[in-house]
Amino acid sequence: MMPVKIYLNRVDGLSPRDMIVAAEVSPPMFEGMEEESLACPKCQADVTNGVSVSTLHALFQPSGRLIFHCSCGAHGEIPPPSTAGA
Ligand SMILES: [Zn+2]
Repeated sequence: MMPVKIYLNRVDGLSPRDMIVAAEVSPPMFEGMEEESLACPKCQADVTNGVSVSTLHALFQPSGRLIFHCSCGAHGEIPPPSTAGA
């Protein structure tokens, strides 16, 4: 299986139900050994390196959308695992 890079879906309007994960350190925020990596839709910085959508959702268990707030100012939705083609 080849490594896959997934660009998050750019989000402009936030909802109160959104769970925001903010970049407080330089990306990537999460590093692992999976085949899937995630990247910011605006600056294309790595959000995760080897950490999949499924793992992030399992970690944060958001009740609504799981949103990454990049240090570049962009918000990107980490898609639900069911739509990520897992
Ligand atoms: Zn960015």
